[in-house]
This record gives sequence, structure tokens and C-alpha cells, in this order.
Amino acid sequence: AIYFVDGQFTEKENLKISVEDRGYYFGDGVYEVIKVYEGELFTAEEHLNRLVESAMKIKLTIPFTQQQLFGIAKKLVQDNQIGTGHVYMQVTRGVAPRIHQFPDPTVAPVVIAYAVNNPRPEKAIGNGVPVKSVADVRWLRCDIKSLNLLGNVLAKQEAFEAGCTEAVLHRDGVVTEGSSSNLFGVKDGKVYTHPANNLILNGITRQVVLKLCREQGIQVEETPFTLDEAFAMDEFFLTSTTSEITPITSIDGRPIGTGKPGAFTVDLQKAFATQFPAFVPG
Ligand code: PMP
Repeated sequence: AIYFVDGQFTEKENLKISVEDRGYYFGDGVYEVIKVYEGELFTAEEHLNRLVESAMKIKLTIPFTQQQLFGIAKKLVQDNQIGTGHVYMQVTRGVAPRIHQFPDPTVAPVVIAYAVNNPRPEKAIGNGVPVKSVADVRWLRCDIKSLNLLGNVLAKQEAFEAGCTEAVLHRDGVVTEGSSSNLFGVKDGKVYTHPANNLILNGITRQVVLKLCREQGIQVEETPFTLDEAFAMDEFFLTSTTSEITPITSIDGRPIGTGKPGAFTVDLQKAFATQFPAFVPG
């Protein structure tokens, strides 16, 4: 596989990453995952905008323009002959001895990127998944797509150990997001999701879903709701770049609605599929 590291395209076997990279020491960096459908990047501009925003929020300047990053992503997809999969990109604050404060401005950020084939998780998308509520003990800048994912990792692991696919994070009973996804509830034909503030990552899939709902005249409430309200939703689903729109069939073993993917969620999945670059109406 061809990787992009330090301004060059290199075979994975030849890569060298320093043990003193601040990403390794501190998780001091930001990243993005961009979906590829049949060789075409999906919502790449939105993802690259968010990468630059995340970098700005941690006072990191990416040494490439968005156009250059797009070119890198495209070349990785082409050279690695990616069909359906994703591009991963990350930028760290560079290589320097381990002290917490930023290194000298002459230290260059380290940009790496690669592309992999990864099939759509059709089973989960079709059948839905069980989830587990987990206390959201993360920091107060969850709007930054930071490499520091320990809170997310521990929450996901807790969910997995309970036989669940995702964690429903909540702060004192108020649902925020999943460990690697955004969460939506549907009640009486209205769609509810946490507002895009510092407590969640404003998912690109989330934004596409909200746009689709508004285009179809569906009422959307970007307002916090509680775990108790989540249990009482008619339908519940999660969104992310790789999970797309995945129905949630139960929370903590309690079925949501009928305990099967709901009609509203299935309709939304169909509308979402029309957005894919390779979508062929038929
Ligand atoms: N929240 C968190 C914490 C995530 O890690 C992700 C996945 N990147 C999302 C939400 C969903 O964002 P997106 O739709 O842009 O993948």
C-alpha cells in the first residue's frame, strides 16, 4: 500500500515515524476519515474544512492547502485502487523532545494519510445494532476531532464488553453522542439530535442527515434530550462516515419502538444513498 508521509508517497514498509512525534506522546494532533464510494471521495470538502477547523482550534497550522490535501486523498484512492473504503488523514504537532508546551515554531507538523478498502457494514445498516449507555466523562472540547480518544475508546470498549456495538454517551442523563458517531431520535415524526456545540463532534453525516430532513420538510429539533426520553423514542439511530445511518434496536437491552429498524430510519437511509457519488437511480 502507498502511504503519504512527510510530503512523499511511500510504500508502507518504508515508512518511518519518530517515537518523539507529539501525536504518539500526547495525542497532540487532529484527524479525519473520508468515505470512498466506488473510487469517489464523499463530502471531501466538508471533511477537509473540519480538519482545518480542528487544527485551528488547537493552534496547529497544516502545511498544505485544502486543495493539496484533496489532491493527496485522490491520489491515494487512485494509486491504491480503492473501491469502497476510506481515506485516513492526520496531522500532529511534529517531532520534538517530550515537554508539554508547544515546540519551537520551526518544528514542522507531521501529516500522514492512507487509503484502505473497507466494505459498507451492510449487516448493521440493515438489521440495526444494540447500544449501551455510558457516562460521558470526556473533556469539554468534543467539537475538536482530536487524536486524544481515550474517553471514546473506554466508552466503546465498555459497550463491546456488554455485547453492544456503540455507547450512548450521556452527561448527567443528557445524551450527547456515540463514542464514534452522532445520535438521533425520532418521536411522533419529529427528529431530535444534540445541538452542535462543544459537547459533540458535528458529524459530516449528521449534517447531511439534517439537510435531507429539512429538504423533505421533516421537523428537526437540535436540542438536548435525556436518556429517559431516548428510551421512549419511536426510533433511534446513529450516524457516522463509516456506519452511515445505522438503526439502533435497543438501549441497555430495552427495545426501542418495535425493536427493529423503523420505517422512518429506513426511508432516511434510502434518501442518504441518493447522495453517494456513485449512486445510480433505478
Ligand atoms: N462523533 C464522534 C466522537 C466521532 O468520532 C465521529 C466519527 N468521526 C462522529 C461523531 C461522526 O462524524 P462523521 O459523520 O463526520 O464521521
